[in-house]
Amino acid sequence: MILSADTIDDGSELPCDLCIVGAGAAGITLALQFLRSGLRVILLEGGGWKPDATTQSLYEGVVAEPDLHPPTDRYRQRRMGGTTTVWSGRCIPFDSIDFSPRPWLAHSGWPISYDDVACWYPAANALCEAGACEFSATAALPGGMRPTIRSFDPEGFALDGIERFSPPTDFGARYRAKLAASGDVRVLLGANAIELVTGPEGATVRRIEVATIAGRRFAVAAGRVVVATGGIETPRLLLASRRHAEAGIGNHHRLVGRYYMCHIAGTIGAVTLNVPRDYVWNGYEKAEDGAYCRRRWTLDAATQREHGLANGLLRLHFPAIPDPRHGSGPLSALYLAKPLFSYERAKRLQNRGGGAGALLHHLRNVVTEPVATAGFFMHGVRHRVFSARKYPSVIVRSPGNLFSLDYHGEQVPNPDSRVSLGRETDALGLPRVTVDWRHSPVDIRTAETALSLFDAALRRWGRGRLDYDPALVAHHMLRDGAYGGHHIGTARMSATPTSGVVDTECRVHGMHNLYLAGAAVFPTSSQANPTLTVVALTLRLADRLKRDFATARAA
Ligand SMILES: Cc1cc2nc3c(=O)[nH]c(=O)nc-3n(C[C@H](O)[C@H](O)[C@H](O)COP(=O)(O)OP(=O)(O)OC[C@H]3O[C@@H](n4cnc5c(N)ncnc54)[C@H](O)[C@@H]3O)c2cc1C
Repeated sequence: MILSADTIDDGSELPCDLCIVGAGAAGITLALQFLRSGLRVILLEGGGWKPDATTQSLYEGVVAEPDLHPPTDRYRQRRMGGTTTVWSGRCIPFDSIDFSPRPWLAHSGWPISYDDVACWYPAANALCEAGACEFSATAALPGGMRPTIRSFDPEGFALDGIERFSPPTDFGARYRAKLAASGDVRVLLGANAIELVTGPEGATVRRIEVATIAGRRFAVAAGRVVVATGGIETPRLLLASRRHAEAGIGNHHRLVGRYYMCHIAGTIGAVTLNVPRDYVWNGYEKAEDGAYCRRRWTLDAATQREHGLANGLLRLHFPAIPDPRHGSGPLSALYLAKPLFSYERAKRLQNRGGGAGALLHHLRNVVTEPVATAGFFMHGVRHRVFSARKYPSVIVRSPGNLFSLDYHGEQVPNPDSRVSLGRETDALGLPRVTVDWRHSPVDIRTAETALSLFDAALRRWGRGRLDYDPALVAHHMLRDGAYGGHHIGTARMSATPTSGVVDTECRVHGMHNLYLAGAAVFPTSSQANPTLTVVALTLRLADRLKRDFATARAA
């Protein structure tokens, strides 16, 4: 059943067995596991079906260094489906090394193993609609996928890993009918949780205070509570719930909001290949199940260990779009069309020098390649606008075998990188967040080493070269700041309460009935995008909660 929170009586208290706060990838995944559970489940979602400026403004906050981190109301979406309403759908499992303690990286290691999460990836992949849970290039397609560069096996990199793409699934729209048909799950839209209220002993959440933009207030009294509001909003709600805990819930050791991670990413360099054009394939291939798949080069575990690095990957990318010297009509047309794209999509299209001369050069590129440009846009309209399963991103065949490299890397945990509460409050009286995102030297050193290893391999194999200025790697990696939509680590999982916020079951240390779902609990960020692992970990949590409810029923 799906209702507006404004239909709930003002001042009332709704009893239930399980209350889930937040209906993004995590919250909806969890709710779907209880559709026919015989339990009373309430899913509180702050937004509605459509974007709403007043609701979205609840996400506004202060950013300590605006050049390094986007505004807090950009990227994440406060509406049904959460940020999956705009995500790109790239699905990748974490690597086994991400879970291991790595002596060369402070605060690394999860208190659970890769296998504890990996067994949930197939079901997570199915919910994300990313096809078979097969992430090996050899096995994903009959006969294997085409190599990115034929007869090139760069030492230090794993070649067989791929990323698969969700259509991308908007969890709200996709699972709306199932949620609406459920008699056990009640979804309340426009229902903003503003406080988790514990008993005076501070160890059990007794009720969740809820407010709507229209001014209605009510409470939900739940046996168990799961907060699934995303990596920035989760610490905000915990920190703001301080009626019986001065520093906020779960914050005895002042760790809530710390270790905030995004990813480090950037496009860099000029790769010139001296191989025939048909030796190179940097695009997508479609698996039999319809999912788009793409190859990538990840730093292998031995190399990370040997060089003391974090995890990271490279993809062969088309030349930088804003620089018209690429000579590509399609890329220049994209550049000229950038006012049509959203903030999230247009960020890397921003001009960085060049002025009117560059503009003319872009126009010349379009005019000299009219057929390629028109074909490119027809493909975009057909496969990105009108297709249910969208072509994941722009891929352009390089006229001169000229490419760049896309780097996407782990940001290592840093306790000084932090989400905290500011002084200002939002329209519902909740303190706004302050985000002080900090990276660490090893984040940049990992990118530098990956690039130099790759260049050396290209030359050793006689396949070409990578031209870049090693002194400018940090500049390129930080030019767009923290990778916008990935908010990780602010309520990390730990074996002991002194080193994290939740235990191995995602239950807040010291709390009887409060759990967290989402990337906030990840102790490390991997090279992989977070959502597949968010969904997998949420399925694991659902399994645990189901067993708890069954035990309680049997008793
Ligand atoms: C442009 C873009 C592209 C991306 N592409 C990828 C990708 O390719 N691959 C990938 O893995 N990830 C990607 N992501 C990240 C992905 O969208 C997130 O990892 C995912 O949505 C996180 O799910 P979540 O449920 O934890 O949080 P969210 O999806 O943010 O959901 C949180 C929900 O909680 C609700 N909420 C918040 N506060 C409250 C409150 N107080 N009370 C009630 N409800 C509340 C929100 O309205 C929202 O519905 C991308 C993100 C962006 C912005």
